[in-house]
Amino acid sequence: MFDVHAHLTDEVIYGDLDNVINEAQTAGVRSFLVPAYSKNFWQRGRDIAEKYPFVYFAIGVHPLFIAEGDDPELRETLVKHPKCLAVGEVGLDYVPNDSQKPQQTAWFAREAAFAKKHDKPLVIHCRKAYSDLLEPLKEYGVPFLLHSCSCSREQVKPFLELGAYVSFSGTLTRTNAKKVLDLARFVPRDRVLFETDSPYIGTDKVRPPFVRPAQVMEVAEAYAEATGLTIEEAEKLTDKNAERFFVL
Ligand SMILES: [Zn+2]
Repeated sequence: MFDVHAHLTDEVIYGDLDNVINEAQTAGVRSFLVPAYSKNFWQRGRDIAEKYPFVYFAIGVHPLFIAEGDDPELRETLVKHPKCLAVGEVGLDYVPNDSQKPQQTAWFAREAAFAKKHDKPLVIHCRKAYSDLLEPLKEYGVPFLLHSCSCSREQVKPFLELGAYVSFSGTLTRTNAKKVLDLARFVPRDRVLFETDSPYIGTDKVRPPFVRPAQVMEVAEAYAEATGLTIEEAEKLTDKNAERFFVL
């Protein structure tokens, strides 16, 4: 199983990294992508990927971390690293409020241009901003993944038409997950990926900040149950999707 969104850089996980990774491997996780979402985490993301052969990383600036600024020189170096698979996580987030909308949209356009320049896909975080995401994605035409997506069928349609991949997280495992289960059945199987967004997104069994990559198995189980696949089939399918999307 591939956890395509695990924040191994974050203190609660990083402080206990060997154990967290062992536990995940015992559960059946084989690969991890660490989206380093602020420039202060980029080098740590790279260091983890260099230490463990099955860990990859991405670099970008999350919309809620724009205030921490950029480091153009460092990003130009790191994006060329053989284990840097994507630009992310980047995106738009109007949930706290949309007062940062102009800054966020301008920043996102720069991230998309950067991804295009380096021929990398985008790992996208989006909350309450799907309509503003569509135009830049059309304009730059880079492959992209909507991470922990929980939008409706109608909302996801135009993104699927642009080739979107969609990763499902712990939200899929919750008893009140009707809407996201519906989305999981709707997204074509060759576009689906699994993730935990650990330590941030709770599952039915584990609350944040205690979520770890091992919980991606819970996500896979929920997806398999919703779609009538076996876990093995779901794993094979999403591993293949990840290889295609990240060009592994
Ligand atoms: Zn994340």
